[in-house]
Amino acid sequence: MSVSELAGAIVESPTLRLNEEARLLRERGEPVIHLGIGEPKNKTPITAILSSASKLSQGDVKYCPSDGLPSLKKAIIRYTEEAYDKVVAPENVIVSSGAKQAIFNILYTILNPQDEVVILAPYWVSYPEMVKMVYGVPVIVTPEDGRFHPRMADIERAVSSSTKAIIVNSPNNPSGVVYREEFIAQIVEFCERRKIYLIMDDIYHKLVFDGRIAPPCYRFTTKDIEDSRLIVINGIAKLYGMTGFRIGWCVAPRKIITVMNNVQAQTTSCASPVMQAGAEGALLGLQSFVEALRLTIQNNRDVAMRELSSFNGVTTCKPEGTFYCLPDFRAYSSNSVELSSFLLKKALVVTVPGREFGMEGHLRLSFAGTVKDVTEGIARIKWALDPTSPNDIYIGDKRLIRDWL
Ligand code: PMP
Repeated sequence: MSVSELAGAIVESPTLRLNEEARLLRERGEPVIHLGIGEPKNKTPITAILSSASKLSQGDVKYCPSDGLPSLKKAIIRYTEEAYDKVVAPENVIVSSGAKQAIFNILYTILNPQDEVVILAPYWVSYPEMVKMVYGVPVIVTPEDGRFHPRMADIERAVSSSTKAIIVNSPNNPSGVVYREEFIAQIVEFCERRKIYLIMDDIYHKLVFDGRIAPPCYRFTTKDIEDSRLIVINGIAKLYGMTGFRIGWCVAPRKIITVMNNVQAQTTSCASPVMQAGAEGALLGLQSFVEALRLTIQNNRDVAMRELSSFNGVTTCKPEGTFYCLPDFRAYSSNSVELSSFLLKKALVVTVPGREFGMEGHLRLSFAGTVKDVTEGIARIKWALDPTSPNDIYIGDKRLIRDWL
């Protein structure tokens, strides 16, 4: 069976594949701990449920404007004003089926074949694949060893006359690093001056710890939104734990939004209005929900750091946001794919290989689950890797037998 060269070259989403592997193991009754997954355990906010349910119970679920329900766009405009101190018009906003689709649409909208997009390692797995899917060329910029914060000088060196965009994701998946204010100021100034689109993937921007804030990009431009190169991506998946609703959005100059809207109208028509109503319910409901989630996750981060600190040879940058950390396991293996599959087989713990994020030798661990999952998951990893640990352990009546990596 033949498929296109381009589609055939797109790699499988490793996180979705691991979710599936974990699900199958669980179905077989295996006591798997999932430290791979990027979604909080909370229940959907009640205001989102009621709003979705009310839309559904009207029995009138039809196509809606492809750039989004006007009432949701209004809520997004209010959110943008509160979170970014930026007033935007409805024509600057488009709602998509998840932030993922918003990012794909924006890349499809701005790139010509062979245009380059600078991506900062460690990066979210989907960026390079999406750039390739629209015939662009991903250019990866890697920070100095042992750090996860990009340096402006490295980015400037990577930029060429073919660079169309730079993607910045802070707080960062997978490292948990929040990029410094000075860096955001510099990259905004650089992109505006060089007329390069700056795509800010802000999907985790309120999940920050220890009193930090993720510096909002609009603070560093004096340009009107219509003349600016800033494109901001956001969504409800992470902040409200509403991953299954599949609603995200993009704020950008109206010329960009108009073309994105045509792209969306010709592909998905619109995001489901039932789910859009849910997103509106979340945005207009009590925001203490986000704060409660943030505090739970900050506590989980502290638990993960405590457990990891007793791990000989493993170094971890303390996450400042998100629900991920990216410990360096090179003392045990420089092949993160092998290491991750060893841990799944021997310790029944799901991790994501750092190679997928452009950081070989590391594993991404999610602390979005319960404290028990985080504690036990890391303890099992330690057991499987530490040569001084006992030869077997029992998880209930299941015996895990120690083996060598
Ligand atoms: N950007 C980043 C950095 C992410 O981690 C994710 C989800 N894992 C997304 C975008 C996609 O979000 P959504 O579920 O809204 O499509």
